[in-house]
Amino acid sequence: MRKKWLLVGLGILAVAGGVAYKQRDAIAMALITRAADRAMARNVMAELPADQLHVGFCGTGSPLPNRDRAAACTVVIAGGRLFVFDMGEGSGKTLSLMGMPLDKIEGVWLTHLHSDHFEGLGPFTLQRWAGTSAKTPLLVSGPDGVTEITAGLNAAYRIDATYRVAHHGPAVVPLSGFGMTGAAIQPGIAYDSNGVRVIAFAVDHDPIKPAFGYRVDFKGKSVTITGDTAFTPKLAIAAKGSDLLVSEMLSPRIVNILANRAQKAGMTNRAKIFNDIQNYHISPAQAADVAKTAGVGMLAFTHIVPSVPKPLEFALIGDASNRYDGGIAIMHDGDIISISGAGEFKIRNLLN
Ligand SMILES: [Zn+2]
Ligand SMILES: [Zn+2]
Repeated sequence: MRKKWLLVGLGILAVAGGVAYKQRDAIAMALITRAADRAMARNVMAELPADQLHVGFCGTGSPLPNRDRAAACTVVIAGGRLFVFDMGEGSGKTLSLMGMPLDKIEGVWLTHLHSDHFEGLGPFTLQRWAGTSAKTPLLVSGPDGVTEITAGLNAAYRIDATYRVAHHGPAVVPLSGFGMTGAAIQPGIAYDSNGVRVIAFAVDHDPIKPAFGYRVDFKGKSVTITGDTAFTPKLAIAAKGSDLLVSEMLSPRIVNILANRAQKAGMTNRAKIFNDIQNYHISPAQAADVAKTAGVGMLAFTHIVPSVPKPLEFALIGDASNRYDGGIAIMHDGDIISISGAGEFKIRNLLN
């Protein structure tokens, strides 16, 4: 009897499977239509309370290739506007996939002119222009030399722009909104409007000069972003009283493994690079000391050097948590931290 019911069940499944297989195209089209409707209706900003400070991670990687981490990019959302710090390779796509409204971007501020901090600008600028019918170019501020980069990228994309205008028309892609405007800035107030203040401060990333970190203050909440830097007392001074410290990190114990294994494999140039990079990045322990001295409520690591599989990530930071009482998190692409008040942090991922 049981065998008979089993056969009947299998028969029904086979028929249902056959029908589904025959209808697979219609099912796929219905699922895709539903996903498209959902994507068009998505309004991430409505989920982010306007009186809070939000810090999103559009790129948490480094020049070392990694499938899961775009290169450097952090977005701060304050008062309904977006402030982007660095735009490394792939990070513009991540920003879009996070559902960020590209027409709300006030500008991009570069910490320094290492290529892993600006290579995403070209593709992103096209996304913003065509996706939002932008009427003014993207403002890209950064250390001296930034205008050379924006002018070069504008030149590289000029031919593409003529094709877009010819194809879609100037109402959809107004030529006035093409490309980017570069603005060289010095340490000091980089932006101050409608209750949002951005301050650039010098960090120590020799021989890359100048190199900046940034601090954003909004409605009594604050985040400090280190950019790429070796340990320097300037970091704790700049971050003093911030709620959140977003720090780059290089794990010496893991990078030493890479250097040793490269040497052992006869890759002496690669081993030298792994040794060289250790003197202009900050270790997790040093970043924890900065967090403690500055009295921040939380330490978030980005620009992870090197990336390791998620279950092993605790090994990157070693004993850093013994040096600082606040929360320490290793960030991933798509993460967003919402700061609602002193000591209140909510983390979620907008890609999931
Ligand atoms: Zn970097
Ligand atoms: Zn750098």
